[in-house]
Amino acid sequence: PAAAALDVAPTPLDVLRDVFGYDSFRGDQQEIIETVARGGDALVLMPTGGGKSLCYQIPALVRHGTGVVVSPLIALMQDQVDALAALGVRAGFLNSTQNPDERREVERAYRSGELDLLYLAPERLGVPATARLLDEGTIALFAIDEAHCVSQWGHDFRPDYLRLGELAERWPGVPRIALTATATRHTHDEIATRLGLTEARHFVASFDRPNITYRVVPKDNPFRQLVDLLRTEHPGDAGIVYCLSRASVEKTAQQLSEQGFRALPYHAGLPPAVRAANQATFLREEGVVMVATIAFGMGIDKPDVRFVAHLDLPKSVEGYYQETGRAGRDGLPSTAWLAYGLADVVQQRKMIAESDGDLAHRRRLSAHLDAMLALCETVECRRAQLLRYFGQEHQGACGACDTCQNPPQAWDGTVPAQKLLSAVYRLDRERNQRFGVGHVVDILRGRATPKITQWRHDELTVFGVGEDLSDGEWRSVARQLLAQGLLEVDANHGTLLLTEASGDVLGRRREVRMRHDPRPQGGARRPARS
Ligand code: ADP
Ligand code: ZN
Repeated sequence: PAAAALDVAPTPLDVLRDVFGYDSFRGDQQEIIETVARGGDALVLMPTGGGKSLCYQIPALVRHGTGVVVSPLIALMQDQVDALAALGVRAGFLNSTQNPDERREVERAYRSGELDLLYLAPERLGVPATARLLDEGTIALFAIDEAHCVSQWGHDFRPDYLRLGELAERWPGVPRIALTATATRHTHDEIATRLGLTEARHFVASFDRPNITYRVVPKDNPFRQLVDLLRTEHPGDAGIVYCLSRASVEKTAQQLSEQGFRALPYHAGLPPAVRAANQATFLREEGVVMVATIAFGMGIDKPDVRFVAHLDLPKSVEGYYQETGRAGRDGLPSTAWLAYGLADVVQQRKMIAESDGDLAHRRRLSAHLDAMLALCETVECRRAQLLRYFGQEHQGACGACDTCQNPPQAWDGTVPAQKLLSAVYRLDRERNQRFGVGHVVDILRGRATPKITQWRHDELTVFGVGEDLSDGEWRSVARQLLAQGLLEVDANHGTLLLTEASGDVLGRRREVRMRHDPRPQGGARRPARS
């Protein structure tokens, strides 16, 4: 107020206190804000909930003119603008959901300098009229939110983002700040290059989310496992359950409701009004479980999401990190829980084989999946491994993930691997048949099922050589071989196939390390070892 009376531009701290009502900056916020307020460029990597919005909102308020925010989150623009209006910040947006009158009013306000912030959908920037409009007002800065969308390597690529590189050429004097919550070293470099942020200061916050406990459980009866988790650890809590398909979203939401949970579905196939209503209920009411595809969640700011459960394997570590990051924004203990099994690997490999795009694209998808599988199968601290993926180190083990709390034992799985791979080798001549994992396990365990007798697989030398392991253990061996690239699945038939690397195992040139799956939930604790 004193500053206003003297007609001096307010400082970032004034704005933080007077407009947003917070006492102090968090992490790198102050330095980022000062960099941009002074007219410099910035590239900001900060985990979800870290407070990225203020990093461009405050400089926009401090600088002369309007801060132009490019964001793919069209569905949230109205909410963002309303929330800012409640604080007395003058904001507007331009996207395809508006009618011409609404659009004209926002354009007029922008031209007359009545806006502090203008949110733009990325596709607007490709329209020449938008560039002309921007020239008719004063641009305080450009903020590029969800900047990882520019990366073709990343999991969330949006072609419209590629045009954002032109901003620097067209408006060279305007500072730019790019922000994202997900970036490996590789994506990070790609953002800087593609957006022409060569002079930008980089701000990389720690990606650790210490209040989130990471757990990966072997998939057994996933719905029952989920219900156990919710009943024993999260009764009455709000959370998100991610499923891969729309059908399983609907089914899971329905089944949870039958079990007495307040569960709602969300996926891109639902009518927009239903989606909006379910999202609003989740945000406003307590204890709602949102069952959703990954279409749900980007930009959702609900502080007290206590758990994020994945019933299917995410396609990449970036996706997993972003989705689990929606838990515990308030800093209180929260759970990231994933049920993962053999069928997930088979299904995802199949989806990659069938995906559109060239070989390079499929290789990228495979590399993403492999990293996710490695995280699932690790015997080390999951948090440490997760952070290492993002190029950050964690000092020692965290003590708060499943592998820290209940360290899985590693074992030498070379002999079982050889048995399983040689069974697959024997079947390899009959590629056109559906000899999936179940059939191979039946052979190893020496079960004379009708299918086995029909194909005379009881005469194979490997028939019955695997009686020492249970069905579950064999499936775990198969899953780990798939995860390690020592086994493949034929996309058309689901038949198991050898890979080039399998030969090294069969030829005894390579050992195979495996992990013992932890006991199913609710089972007895493993006795402490002395
Ligand atoms: P992100 O976009 O990084 O996920 P947000 O910008 O939505 O995070 O911020 C997350 C939450 O933290 C919001 O509720 C925001 O108001 C709050 N927040 C951000 N910065 C501060 C701060 N300096 N002090 C207190 N709360 C803050
Ligand atoms: Zn750990």
